[in-house]
Amino acid sequence: MTSRRLVLVAFDQLNADHGALAAADPAHDVVLLIESTSMLEARPWHPERTYLLLSAAAHFARDLIEQGFTVDYRQAATIEDGIRQARADHGIEDVVSTWPTSFAAARRLEGLGVHLVPNDLFLTSREQFDAWVSRQRTFRMEGFYREQRRRLGILMDGDEPVGGSWNFDAANRLPPPKDYRWPSSLVHEHDEIDEKISRRLGHQPSGAWGTTRAAALRQLEHFLEHSFAGFGPLEDAMPADDWAVHHSLLSPYLNIGLLHPEEVVRRAVARFDQGGIPIESCEALVRQIIGWREYVHGMYWFLGHEYRFRNALDAHRDLPPVFTGGDTDMNCVGTTVADIDKRAWVHHIPRLMILSNLALLAGVEPQQFLAWMREAFVDAYDWVMVPNVIGMGLYADGGTMMTKPYAAGGAYISRMSTFCRDCAFDPRKRVGPDACPFTTLYWDFLDRHRERFARNARMAQQVRGLDRLSDLDEVRQRAREVLDLLDAGRL
Ligand SMILES: Cc1cc2nc3c(=O)[nH]c(=O)nc-3n(C[C@H](O)[C@H](O)[C@H](O)COP(=O)(O)OP(=O)(O)OC[C@H]3O[C@@H](n4cnc5c(N)ncnc54)[C@H](O)[C@@H]3O)c2cc1C
Ligand code: SF4
Repeated sequence: MTSRRLVLVAFDQLNADHGALAAADPAHDVVLLIESTSMLEARPWHPERTYLLLSAAAHFARDLIEQGFTVDYRQAATIEDGIRQARADHGIEDVVSTWPTSFAAARRLEGLGVHLVPNDLFLTSREQFDAWVSRQRTFRMEGFYREQRRRLGILMDGDEPVGGSWNFDAANRLPPPKDYRWPSSLVHEHDEIDEKISRRLGHQPSGAWGTTRAAALRQLEHFLEHSFAGFGPLEDAMPADDWAVHHSLLSPYLNIGLLHPEEVVRRAVARFDQGGIPIESCEALVRQIIGWREYVHGMYWFLGHEYRFRNALDAHRDLPPVFTGGDTDMNCVGTTVADIDKRAWVHHIPRLMILSNLALLAGVEPQQFLAWMREAFVDAYDWVMVPNVIGMGLYADGGTMMTKPYAAGGAYISRMSTFCRDCAFDPRKRVGPDACPFTTLYWDFLDRHRERFARNARMAQQVRGLDRLSDLDEVRQRAREVLDLLDAGRL
């Protein structure tokens, strides 16, 4: 007779066809979901995020019961307590689970004797990534991405990329067009389970996020129908009057298992094959999912637990109040933070070129910024937030992941957004009371790190720009004022 097992399902692994659940036997096994108070209360999580996790897990448990599984959904002080109690209650010692998505969770489960099976909610196994990374001298995403295209046979024409190019980035950097109608975004209705969770948390959900597999599939189809065509060319645009732009809004579902990256890419390529979708949009989406997402996941495990503590630029400023909802005259920052407050989400460019850029230029301590980002976003998990913040956003790894920091002044934000026209500051000015803080801090940042970046071929030209500034002393003076105002929450 098959021995009975507890199949532990983490709240970011809600998928019955993958990982430990794929081999679970409804006749013998008990599926265990543990809502741990210590996790819920460990940090000031954005309620939108907690709502999504709890409601999606509750729906998932209900669906498994309907499929004939015995499900034990329990609340416990800690995961350890939950497992201990479930073992005793069911008289089952064997616990199996899918490899979790953080070092901390893996250590905890291994310590409890949980048998971990590979996590195939990604397209690249740890072995496949290690095989790629061990052949590299530098770890650039572009090389990984091309290998993924070939390995997975996605958008390939024999050995050549469909459309004749691997990369359409040059076509994909359009600013927000004038008088443009952005695609409508889906509003997700709430059912009884959602309402129960919402009452429990005392949080009225925004409607931006569904909590079931059916809702995730609706979001995917909505994106393919309404937003996919314009995705590539407008992926970097930041219009002040629209929050979703042409983005897919799929990360929350991909990251909790309600969608698998393979099905998203397969559906997107099938939609592209039907016609009407430019190659630059299809390639851009494929790049994000089989490229960036898999690369970031692989790098998280490859770089190790200590990577999160890197601070190559020696940045030690406390997180300024502007990130946590303090008043600000910087329209780009204020609008972005207000959007996060509403939905726990903004797209890639505000994350990178507004929030991370400000933290980078101001020299905010990476671990404080990482903690805030981790709490504030609906799609945030360790494996994805750590490399994106430490490597991409803050260059705190000194260039392990990126060839140069994503540092930019107000000119970039002014070109790619409509924020500056309604701002108290002037993106062209670097000194004076109405100088754009980004512009001032950008030059001051280059000045502070002049020696390091002069040695970087991709930064040397920017650094040489410092020599053309006749007002560098004034810039330094204004930067000190800006940083003081930022610290005091008065900018
Ligand atoms: C500082 C910073 C922090 C970030 N934190 C997260 C995070 O916590 N969780 C998260 O899922 N993404 C994160 N990203 C990546 C990216 O911003 C989001 O995946 C994206 O904005 C989610 O919205 P979307 O689903 O509409 O994405 P789209 O723009 O429609 O892209 C499609 C998919 O590509 C994947 N993707 C694209 N870029 C990345 C990337 N750099 N890393 C991982 N996946 C990527 C996502 O799964 C996304 O759903 C971060 C980026 C930066 C710069
Ligand atoms: S002027 Fe500067 S602070 Fe104001 S919106 Fe533009 S970039 Fe942001």
